[in-house]
Amino acid sequence: MKRVLIFGAGVTGLSIAKLLHPHAQVTILEQEDQIGGLARTKIIDGDVAYHLVGGHCFNSKYPEVMDFVFQQLPQDNWHKIQRISRINFGDYEVNYPIEFSMKEIFAHNPQLAMDMTRDFLSANDDGEYRNLEEWFRKKFGDTLCNHYFLPYNTKIWGKAPHEMSHTWVEDKLPIPDKTSFFASLLSTQKDTMAHSSFYYPNSNNQQTLFEALAKGLDIRLNTKVDKVERKGEVWRVNDIYEADILISTIPIKTLPSLIAGTPVEVLDHARQLKYNKISNVIWRSRATEKTWTYQPLANCKFHRYIHIGSFHSPARGYTITEMMGEHSLDEMVSYGQQDPFLIEPLAHNTSEHAYVVYDDQRSAALSTLQSYLKSLGVHSIGRFGQWDYFNMDVCIKQSLNLFTHLRPTL
Ligand SMILES: Cc1cc2nc3c(=O)[nH]c(=O)nc-3n(C[C@H](O)[C@H](O)[C@H](O)COP(=O)(O)OP(=O)(O)OC[C@H]3O[C@@H](n4cnc5c(N)ncnc54)[C@H](O)[C@@H]3O)c2cc1C
Repeated sequence: MKRVLIFGAGVTGLSIAKLLHPHAQVTILEQEDQIGGLARTKIIDGDVAYHLVGGHCFNSKYPEVMDFVFQQLPQDNWHKIQRISRINFGDYEVNYPIEFSMKEIFAHNPQLAMDMTRDFLSANDDGEYRNLEEWFRKKFGDTLCNHYFLPYNTKIWGKAPHEMSHTWVEDKLPIPDKTSFFASLLSTQKDTMAHSSFYYPNSNNQQTLFEALAKGLDIRLNTKVDKVERKGEVWRVNDIYEADILISTIPIKTLPSLIAGTPVEVLDHARQLKYNKISNVIWRSRATEKTWTYQPLANCKFHRYIHIGSFHSPARGYTITEMMGEHSLDEMVSYGQQDPFLIEPLAHNTSEHAYVVYDDQRSAALSTLQSYLKSLGVHSIGRFGQWDYFNMDVCIKQSLNLFTHLRPTL
């Protein structure tokens, strides 16, 4: 049997390991004391699963991903939740996505709704975009862009959209055409994204999925990969582990520096990749039927509230407030205490890698790193393994694809 080493026990590493497990001798090396990676949770306040990063819900437009997940954790272990997302403009809130909420905006600010409508319908989308701001302007028109897309995206990326590439955004946002926008003025248009509803485990803890994936796997926790060498046909890792096949789900920015003999030019390219951290606080909060509240206004320091208690069945009053970058508990609590909706802070975390930054250097730097790893025969997959804006389902899809590719060689 071939020996496979997998770096990282996030959803990507666990999925590819589970697929390979019957056909190879598989070991996962994970630096943390817990599986789940970015989507992991820890129990606080007695029985509440706190997502240390984000608030991970699951859904997918890929049937093969849904099948795989429901094979691991059968469908009757999940409940389905309708997404109820609102955008907070201070004196009023409207439904997400904003472009279908003109009637709601009109009720509060008729001139603004008329300007948004005029600009949306007259926006000239010629398919040529120099940057993310131009993409927003050509898709949504100037008023929606100035009032919502630019301030919100500046907050979440910590960078002005004109300094960012547009290439990642296309399949992440519902983009209405002019007809569906117009139809929404006449009737109630529904959010048509795959994520208009989503699944959450009945255990009220996303970690249940990772535990199901991990069943039967050889996972070495507290094992940070810090040395990777090629000895003839064999990979040697940390001077201990040996493998015929290496699969990495750790950041592609980091991996080359761990491989003995990586050329300096490759390391230079790795340094050019940028990412953001994210900080969050979970609060006991008032109960709400909402699942998310987006916060575009500059006077609210958080960019998003994730009403994680609404993911639970039955629903409870717990909310996660998020800020891009590194922020202390004290700082975040001082902002949160200005909102009576948030009752008591319970826990705080700042992530390492959270979001890829799509600047001008990303594409060239990434392709150099990918070519280098390909020349060595190392497979780098997952959100930071491919340095892309992947949700869990896309990570699982990448694992399914890699399995199909490797299967004939095993
Ligand atoms: C704020 C936020 C909210 C999100 N919300 C959702 C959501 O609601 N739904 C959704 O589907 N997706 C969501 N995502 C995306 C989701 O988190 C990712 O797609 C997914 O978790 C990535 O999994 P991964 O295994 O590729 O990477 P990771 O989860 O990053 O796993 C990589 C693993 O490698 C380990 N590692 C790193 N370096 C080393 C080393 N040197 N040695 C050993 N181990 C190492 C890490 O500890 C980690 O466990 C969200 C992301 C963020 C940032």
